[in-house]
Amino acid sequence: MDDLTNRYEETLTRIASAVRRYRPAVQSALPAVRLLAISKGHPAAAIRRLAELGQREFGENYLQEAAPKMAALQDLPLIWHYTGQIQGNKTRAIAAGFDWVHTVDRERTAQRLNEQRPVAATPINVCIQVRLEAEAGKGGIEPHEVAALADRFRDFPRLRLRGLMCIPAPRNGFEAQRIQFERLAECLYDLNRHGYALDTLSMGMSDDLEAAIAAGATLVRIGTALFGTRT
Ligand SMILES: *Cc1c(COP(=O)(O)O)cnc(C)c1O
Repeated sequence: MDDLTNRYEETLTRIASAVRRYRPAVQSALPAVRLLAISKGHPAAAIRRLAELGQREFGENYLQEAAPKMAALQDLPLIWHYTGQIQGNKTRAIAAGFDWVHTVDRERTAQRLNEQRPVAATPINVCIQVRLEAEAGKGGIEPHEVAALADRFRDFPRLRLRGLMCIPAPRNGFEAQRIQFERLAECLYDLNRHGYALDTLSMGMSDDLEAAIAAGATLVRIGTALFGTRT
């Protein structure tokens, strides 16, 4: 087996083991936790190889890098997630090319995506990015601001609000990681107690996916553990 095949199987095993260990009650519910392969920094050929192994969902952070890769893979039935920071002048390309956006953190961005989503396409799936701790340059709104932004989605029929996303600062130790992820889960439960039916917690990366799954992740975003080190 090649390295990519090995790492793909290892990653799926890590996810399955974490679900068995920490969330036995949801084992039978269909996809309790999905793998989102973060392919930034890796070529279209690696994405194609993973697609051959059965992976469908891929995440990219930079439009300039993503566009040629997406064009080269048009023959495949892939689901594309935008997981990078959003600059105002890039919303049109994101709205046209992606199925999901994980990093919406202001009303203006949501409004633009809503206006620019092509009418022929289904609504674009959106996660609000939440910043769990004050850190410069990270993106995301604070937990207490989430309800007000979520509320604005009523006016954005071309967007489908699916849930919340976070990128916590790296922490050593399972418990320290889990405490952060549980804060995001609390935000989602709060919204759902107030009438939403959100189904997505986008959290967990190569180094902390087990803690994220323990806290309720439904989508883990994995780059390095799958593709190896980025160049
Ligand atoms: C790069 C990136 C990942 C993947 O991180 P790894 O540690 O390589 O698994 C996940 N989410 C976002 C938003 C990223 O930018």
